[in-house]
Amino acid sequence: MSELAARVGQTLATLERIAQDYSPAVFASSLAAEDMVLTDLILKAGLPIGIFSLETGRLHKETLGMVDRVRERYGYEIALYRPVTAAVTDHIIKHGHNAFYDSVELRKECCNIRKVEPLGRALTGKKAWITGQRRSQSSTRAELSEQEDDAAHGMQKFNPLADWSEEEVWEYIRGNEVPYNPLHDQGFPSIGCEPCTRAIQPGEDVRAGRWWWENPESKECGLHLVDGKLIRIKKVA
Ligand code: SF4
Repeated sequence: MSELAARVGQTLATLERIAQDYSPAVFASSLAAEDMVLTDLILKAGLPIGIFSLETGRLHKETLGMVDRVRERYGYEIALYRPVTAAVTDHIIKHGHNAFYDSVELRKECCNIRKVEPLGRALTGKKAWITGQRRSQSSTRAELSEQEDDAAHGMQKFNPLADWSEEEVWEYIRGNEVPYNPLHDQGFPSIGCEPCTRAIQPGEDVRAGRWWWENPESKECGLHLVDGKLIRIKKVA
């Protein structure tokens, strides 16, 4: 058995265990390459794990187009969670359309409104959530575990691709003809909201294009943070 086949087998076993032991469980897809690997595994296996995305209102059209490509390929409708309109309007009136460039605080406020609050709604009533995060993606993810006790949301959090390399992600995508965001072919290894993501140059860190005007330590959107700090999530043995 190839290394990738073994890796896929382990990941599928993890997903099956989550579906069986932590129902209802959901997968938070950012529609990026890693998320498409998990989408392919979940939907092909017919696992009872709901898939949702946070439609922040500032995504690239290519990213939103992935919702259509998943529907066409798998006949599955990804649930979209959007921010509260009044909160977005209030923020824009007070600080302008692009206040995230002005300070880390205003950037986090925007992420709270457009991502963190909708995520809370998406996770309500669930026993576990799943992400496509990988350990080698950035310095802020170096200690990522496959299973974590997410005290902030009162549930288990799973990162089934924590051990996967970028090469394995792409080997799986190409080998299984999984649809992927075309921005990945244009220098975007990590894709977030359009105004907060730029293409990177060869040799740059994978997440160098995310909030590139900030220090590496602050570069998380708050989905994995509490009160603006990295959550020290307890590892589960
Ligand atoms: S990534 Fe940028 S546009 Fe998107 S929610 Fe965060 S600050 Fe706002």
